[in-house]
Amino acid sequence: MKPTNKNEIIFRRNKTLSEKVAAALRSRGFDAYICDTGDEAASLALSLIPEGSSVSWGGSYSIQEIGLVDKIRSGNYRVLDRDATATPEERREMMIKALTADVFLTSFNAVSEDGVLYNIDGIGNRIAAIIYGPSMIVAVVGMNKVCPTKEDAYSRARGYAAPVNAARFGGKTPCVATGSCADCKSPECICSHIVETRMCRPAGRIKIILVNEELGF
Ligand code: SF4
Repeated sequence: MKPTNKNEIIFRRNKTLSEKVAAALRSRGFDAYICDTGDEAASLALSLIPEGSSVSWGGSYSIQEIGLVDKIRSGNYRVLDRDATATPEERREMMIKALTADVFLTSFNAVSEDGVLYNIDGIGNRIAAIIYGPSMIVAVVGMNKVCPTKEDAYSRARGYAAPVNAARFGGKTPCVATGSCADCKSPECICSHIVETRMCRPAGRIKIILVNEELGF
């Protein structure tokens, strides 16, 4: 039966495309999973994380949106939470500890259909953890972040995800004032590092949970 509701139409397209994207991710050494909803993704993520693990996360909206961060905070884990610190020094210390956590939770800003991932970071702690350190990376990625080509994914990360995230953090950058990237060099620029992750070594360290609904920015 043909779907008529807008969300159902997009969901049907996502459900088909996510199979292709998951296969592309696996060909690059990532573990890839597909969930239909954010709730399913949160449950799957929890099933991947052994109890007692040290767990930290970056400033991803997606993992908060699905309730994963709250579940980690209330679960049987050793939580490394920079937002629970009292001073800038403690916060920095916690962010450094996160680089050697057992598990680091995140999302990505964009993914190409052939499985290349993009992330933009201001300070660099999130992408540092993704690249090296934590034994396991669990990334929750809504299918709204999948783009046809690598160029499209880069463009999404820079031209859409970054200005929206800048608006979220409310810094003094041109994109917060105009909604559009001005390729700025502002002290509060959130685009200091732009990383393309095209393979996972060792294989399986980075686990990508694709979600067939819209999550994050
Ligand atoms: S204006 Fe600056 S902070 Fe905003 S998206 Fe562009 S480079 Fe990033």
